[in-house]
Amino acid sequence: MKNIAVIGAGTMGNGIAHVFAQAAFEVTLIDINAAVLEKAVARIDKNLGRQVTKGRLSEEDQKATLARIQTTTSMEEGLKNADLVVEAATENTALKLKIFTEMDQLSGPDAILASNTSSISITKIAAVTQRPDKVIGMHFMNPVPIMKLVEVIRGYATSDETTNKIMDLSSKLGKVPVEVNDYPGFVANRILMPMINEAIYTLFEGVAGVNEIDTVMKLGMAHPMGPLQLADFIGLDVCLAILRVLHDGMGNPKYAPCPLLVNMVAAGKLGMKSGEGFYVHTRGSKELVVSASFS
Ligand code: NAD
Repeated sequence: MKNIAVIGAGTMGNGIAHVFAQAAFEVTLIDINAAVLEKAVARIDKNLGRQVTKGRLSEEDQKATLARIQTTTSMEEGLKNADLVVEAATENTALKLKIFTEMDQLSGPDAILASNTSSISITKIAAVTQRPDKVIGMHFMNPVPIMKLVEVIRGYATSDETTNKIMDLSSKLGKVPVEVNDYPGFVANRILMPMINEAIYTLFEGVAGVNEIDTVMKLGMAHPMGPLQLADFIGLDVCLAILRVLHDGMGNPKYAPCPLLVNMVAAGKLGMKSGEGFYVHTRGSKELVVSASFS
């Protein structure tokens, strides 16, 4: 594999393009929004610059990495030479099915089609293509250049050959791939989201405040970040969407999202991206939301 196309240049897409280009692959980053593409390249340059400052990368390598990244708003243009396409567009089932239908039509017959989805069924996505054996989940973690894990998700029809190629490729990126099967939430979110939901229930039921809950988990369980802070970082809308996938997919009431989470999302309190969730996020600093229901 040499040419990689990445669809979606948001939070995850720019990180995915960064790690592939740094590992000497030719990358085409595709987004419907040209301004997002410009911002993504600037962010990659800034993140590479940080690696240079820390002495982990030379300035020549920074330039060479950036030169391996092309951008386009045209799917046709971006996909025609791709050996692997990694889709990292917005987490929406209808949108992903539409994008995978196009990916299948516009990519060469041997190309592998991967999705970075957090929770949408790989089997369902694969079923809209003519090559379900070559469709797979490649679930990178945020921030992509730093986090080591790639959760490699086998859909019902994903072949051994495709799985082995993606496991090898992930190792070439300096990541640690872990193979899992395609069931709701895969492994990462099946375990993480019920913990976050339980932390929100603990707050909702008045057992403890935001700071207390996060401190218990940080100092007591050696988690680098408390579950409520992590929920703010991931996005409360994203957490709610994943819990709904778990709840619908398993039919088990233990996955029902906490009503406080549902209310906060309805009120537009989405965490870091909206400036406020369980914490107020101002200029990078984190302050507790001063609110009676959270004390
Ligand atoms: P994001 O909203 O930051 O970026 C999504 C990008 O997709 C946007 O730039 C948007 O313009 C683009 N897009 C939408 N429709 C498109 C189309 N038809 N063609 C091309 N581009 C299109 O989202 P994100 O946080 O980067 O998430 C992307 C994917 O990664 C989702 O599936 C999400 O579940 C998954 N994911 C996110 C995280 C996280 O922490 N944010 C972690 C792991 C996986």
